[in-house]
Amino acid sequence: MPTLPVLILNSGSSSIKFSLYEAGAGERRKLYEGAVDGIGTDQGKFWIKDADGKKLVDQSPALPSRSVAFKLVADVLNSGDFLRPRAIGHRMVCAAPTLQNNLRVTPELIEEMERYKDLAPLHTPIGAYIMREALELFPGVPNFACSDSYFHRTMPQVATHMPIPSEYADMGVRRVGFHGISYESIVCQLQPDVPERLIVAHLGNGASISAIRNGRCIDTSMGLTPTGGIISGTRTGDVDPGLLLFILRKIAEAASSSKEAADQLEAVVNKRAGLLGVSGLSNDMRVLRAAVVAGNEKARLAVDKFTWMIVKSIGSYFAELGGLDMLVFTGGIGENDTATREEICAGLGALGIVLDPARNHARGMAVISAEDSPVTVRVIPPAEDLIIVNHVVRMLSEESGSLADLEQAESHVGELEAVAVTGCEIR
Ligand code: AMP
Repeated sequence: MPTLPVLILNSGSSSIKFSLYEAGAGERRKLYEGAVDGIGTDQGKFWIKDADGKKLVDQSPALPSRSVAFKLVADVLNSGDFLRPRAIGHRMVCAAPTLQNNLRVTPELIEEMERYKDLAPLHTPIGAYIMREALELFPGVPNFACSDSYFHRTMPQVATHMPIPSEYADMGVRRVGFHGISYESIVCQLQPDVPERLIVAHLGNGASISAIRNGRCIDTSMGLTPTGGIISGTRTGDVDPGLLLFILRKIAEAASSSKEAADQLEAVVNKRAGLLGVSGLSNDMRVLRAAVVAGNEKARLAVDKFTWMIVKSIGSYFAELGGLDMLVFTGGIGENDTATREEICAGLGALGIVLDPARNHARGMAVISAEDSPVTVRVIPPAEDLIIVNHVVRMLSEESGSLADLEQAESHVGELEAVAVTGCEIR
C-alpha cells in the first residue's frame, strides 16, 4: 500500500529534533526520530533511533553552528540508509497577520516570518532559518508550515482585539495565542468525547492555558507574543506596561542607541525573567523543586507565583466558559510535576476540582481527579508531531498540483485523500 514519508522538524536554541512518520490511509507510523543537541559546542550529540528505541546513529560531533548541525542531519537522511522524506512539516511560531494559517513553505513565506521575527524572538528566527535550509538541503521535497496559532483562530474579537490606538491595531497587531498544535492534539486525543467546557494547561518551559468550548478555542493566555500570559521559564508573562517603560528608561540611560536598548529589554523579558528571574536560580522546574525542598525561599516564591498565576487564569476561564467539565495538564511540567498539579488543584476547590492524591502520584495515570470530583482532571502528553503530519497530508492532498512533483504521485492521491478525511482536526 503506498505511503508518504513525512519528516517533522522542530528546532530550539541549541538543538534540532526530527522524526519521520509513514502516513498511509488512516494510519501514522513513526519510523525513526533523532536530534542534534549541543549546537555551539565542540562536543555535541547526534543520535537517531528507530520506533523500538534502537540507536541507529550515536555520535558526538563538533557542532560549531546550526548550519553544520542541520547539514549533518540532512546528509544522513539523504544518504540512502534511511527512508527519504517526501514531505516536510514545520511548527511555525509567528504572529505575522498573513501567516495565521497552515501553509506551503516558500521563500516569500520565510521572508514574511523574518519581517515579524521580533514578535517571537526565541522562536521565529530559528524556525525561518530551518525552513530555508530544509528547502535547500532536501531539493524537490515540499515543505509545509503549521501555524502554532491556527487553533486559536476561533477566538472571538473581544479576545483578540488589543486595547491600543487603531493605528496599531490596523497593522494587524492582535492576540493570536501559541501552543495551538499542542492544544489541537489534546482535543484530538479526547475525541469522540470532547467535553463541552474544557481548560487545557500547557505547562512547559513556555507555559500557557486555553479555554475551549466544544473543541474550539475561545480564549488563551498568550497574546501577540509568546512572552505574554502566565509566567514561563524565562519569560515575564503579562506585566504592568508601566514596568516595561521603567526598565526601558533604566536601560536607555546606558545604551548607545534605541535599537540596543530595545534589544536589551527584549532579553530581559524573554530570557532573564519568569521562574529564572524570580528564583535567581533556574528556569527548570526540577531544579526549583529540589531547591524548595532544601529551603530556598526565592525558589519557593517563583513556584508560588507560577501556581498563583495559573489558578487565577483557570478561574477566569471558568467564568468565560460558564463552568467546567474537564481540566487537562500537559507539557513537561504538567505531565511530570505532581507537586505543581497538586498545588494548582488545591487552589481550585471552589470550582469543583478534587484531586485524588494517589492517582496524582501514580505514573501514567490518565485521570487524576477523585471519583466524585465534579470536574474531571486528566494528564495527557501532547502529540504535536502527529498533528503536523495530519496537516501536511491534508495540505498535500488539497494541492493536487504539488503532488505531481512527487514520484508515484498518482498512486498517492487516493490514499492521501482518505487520510485527510480521517484526520481529527476540528474545523
Ligand atoms: P517542556 O518545555 O514541555 O519540555 O518542559 C520543560 C519543563 O518541564 C522544565 O521546567 C522541566 O523542569 C519540567 N520537567 C520535565 N520533567 C520533569 C519532572 N520529572 N518533574 C518536574 N518537572 C519536570
